[in-house]
Amino acid sequence: MRTIGHFIGGKEVKGTSGRFADVYEPMTGEVQAKVALASKAEVRAAVENAAAAQVGWANTNPQRRARVMMKFLELVQRDYDKLADLLAREHGKTVPDAKGDIQRGLEVVEFACGVPHLMKGEYTEAAGPGIDIYSMRQPLGVVAGITPFNFPAMIPMWKFAPAIACGNAFVLKPSERDPGVPMALAALMIEAGLPEGVLNVVNGDKEAVDAILDDPDIKAVGFVGSSPIAQYIYERAAANNKRAQCFGGAKNHAIIMPDADMDQTVDALIGAGYGSAGERCMAISVAVPVGKTTADRLMEKLIPRVESLKIGPSTDPSADFGPLVTRAALERVKDYVEVGVKEGATLAVDGRGFKMQGYENGFYMGGCLFDNVTKDMRIYKEEIFGPVLSVVRAKDYNEALALPSDHDYGNGVAIFTRDGDAARDFAAKVNVGMVGVNVPIPVPIAYYTFGGWKKSGFGDLNQHGPDSIRFYTKTKTVTSRWPSGVKDGAEFVIPTMN
Ligand code: NAD
Repeated sequence: MRTIGHFIGGKEVKGTSGRFADVYEPMTGEVQAKVALASKAEVRAAVENAAAAQVGWANTNPQRRARVMMKFLELVQRDYDKLADLLAREHGKTVPDAKGDIQRGLEVVEFACGVPHLMKGEYTEAAGPGIDIYSMRQPLGVVAGITPFNFPAMIPMWKFAPAIACGNAFVLKPSERDPGVPMALAALMIEAGLPEGVLNVVNGDKEAVDAILDDPDIKAVGFVGSSPIAQYIYERAAANNKRAQCFGGAKNHAIIMPDADMDQTVDALIGAGYGSAGERCMAISVAVPVGKTTADRLMEKLIPRVESLKIGPSTDPSADFGPLVTRAALERVKDYVEVGVKEGATLAVDGRGFKMQGYENGFYMGGCLFDNVTKDMRIYKEEIFGPVLSVVRAKDYNEALALPSDHDYGNGVAIFTRDGDAARDFAAKVNVGMVGVNVPIPVPIAYYTFGGWKKSGFGDLNQHGPDSIRFYTKTKTVTSRWPSGVKDGAEFVIPTMN
């Protein structure tokens, strides 16, 4: 059995805690590896290593730091197929979708290559008599990322690329469910020229996470995962005087206006609702047709599409989606479907009985579609994180607008319409962080920022884009006056720029 340790000081090291977790191959249901779960002492060793390496790295000029990122881009391209295969086999998503996972991470690495420009400070000449003011951005020191299972390439890169480009050292605690790709990425960063110790990976569970949160040398924590854990991390990190940005779960709505192009909308819903078996924080999990005619037209087109979804093993490039990540995740999603039935929603398509021929122990289920879901139901209020789409019928635009706005989660939302006025009004008023207009998964590109509102995000700066540079640096402002005109004696009135 393959064992996966940690990546500390530029190389993979064995775990010493004696504790391990199973890493499954979801498409077969078999355990394919054991991953070590770090103890507090192992996390501390990684932090000490990172702290020692960070000083030299911060003193490396930003162009040289950017060149490491450029080389890393090249190396990931070289190993693309291998990484995508490993990712698909540990996560369960299809290989083409795994390539997308890697690509969306690389785009943030590309953004981080601009760090010499992005870290430039401000300068005001003659802000007062003989006084110049300038600001500079400096790295924080050692920072950490705690990431979820569902994007094992993209989210680690969203975290470590801007942080490292800014001159920090990084301790990554990836999901224990699919740690193979984060470990491979760390090795590629070293091959790209990153000094040993600047990027460390500690695998683990709550014990490792708590050690990160309590470590006095870790200055900032970037988290992505479910909302209860996001809130826990945010509170504990803040109590320990760390910066924290913690992104949580989601319940993303798609509003379908009566004038929407229904074929385009159904295509969009099918991809965004069921791609990656619904295990995306930007998946559409609620469709809101406006008016009865729209709802009936939508259901008429949607039902056969959900029934004909092609589920397959992760290595089948023609599959629409593959298995869920673990048996526990599969059972959890099936339980939610049962809850929906008991709550009185109409189960228009039931995919629970799906079996994958030749892969009978894999964690598969077919697509499920609920109609007549209402606001008070648990299947509406809670994140299911599986291939389940709920249709909530709204009588008019205002009712549709209120649904995502009043929901506890506020990650993404989309409106499908041909009416520019409705789209504009919706984008302005909806109480959600990322909005799509005829775009079902509005994940902003790398040079904008990504972040949800309400229970989907704790903290005040988003991921990637300019916010990531702000999050991983601290600003120092220098007010200077050179000797001339300071011979007038002491001043007792607060300096102003009058
Ligand atoms: P999770 O919350 O179970 O785990 C995330 C990380 O937290 C993992 O590294 C895990 O080891 C750690 N963790 C889990 N339980 C912990 C505990 N009790 N104490 C300390 N640490 C703990 O999330 P997941 O199942 O891996 O990922 C799916 C979730 O992530 C979904 O809710 C999804 O919506 C969300 N997500 C959000 C975004 C976003 O940007 N908002 C992006 C991707 C995924």
